[in-house]
Amino acid sequence: MEQVFDEPTGKLLTAIHFAALKHRDQRRKDTPLSPYINHPLEVARLLWEVGSVRDIATLTAAILHDTLEDTATTPEEIRQTFGEKVLGLVLEVTDDKSLPKMRRKRLQIEQAPHLSRQAKLIKLADKISNVHDLLYAPPRRWRLERKQKYLLWTEQVVAGLRGTNALLEQRYDALFQAGKTLLHLAQEQQ
Ligand code: NDP
Ligand code: ZN
Repeated sequence: MEQVFDEPTGKLLTAIHFAALKHRDQRRKDTPLSPYINHPLEVARLLWEVGSVRDIATLTAAILHDTLEDTATTPEEIRQTFGEKVLGLVLEVTDDKSLPKMRRKRLQIEQAPHLSRQAKLIKLADKISNVHDLLYAPPRRWRLERKQKYLLWTEQVVAGLRGTNALLEQRYDALFQAGKTLLHLAQEQQ
């Protein structure tokens, strides 16, 4: 029997199409230079499959989460197509690129506990996706020390996101433990 899809499905398809167009000239930092869109799609998939997140605004914002930070997309475009709620979530997870990089990294740690619950979910899935890539599809030319620092920085951000979704937190913790071994940090912590 033919399955009839509901309106949220259409909204997600619109978001996927929008993000794919916006990220079309971008690549991830891994050796094969994977299409950038793989990452926001993975973040939304993690929310759905690992975190059992079913909230449509959260899933839509996950798909769009890097458009303001990494492309020429304006807040107005997101507001017009996806509404105020989704725009608010995307803004919550967007770094202020006018600030120096190290300041932005510190701000992520400091602001994590104050994010909305939905933004915390997106941040958790974003960190899971990025740590997974750091370990299994790492940025080319990153030396061990830079990977170690990145892994330990994500732990500090995630500390401020805890108590939001046990399943996502468990997935992060498993990846973090794997990362400590793979990046030779295990002994130092004992
Ligand atoms: P960056 O922020 O430059 O790069 C990491 C980001 O790149 C991720 O958060 C992710 O962001 C995106 N990304 C794209 N492709 C990948 C991939 N394959 N795997 C993982 N992430 C990917 O890194 P940092 O500046 O944080 O560097 C890590 C640490 O190294 C820092 O804490 C710093 O102390 C140290 N360091 C930094 C140097 C520098 O020049 N910045 C130089 C030497 C050391 P998104 O989700 O937005 O795509
Ligand atoms: Zn991201």
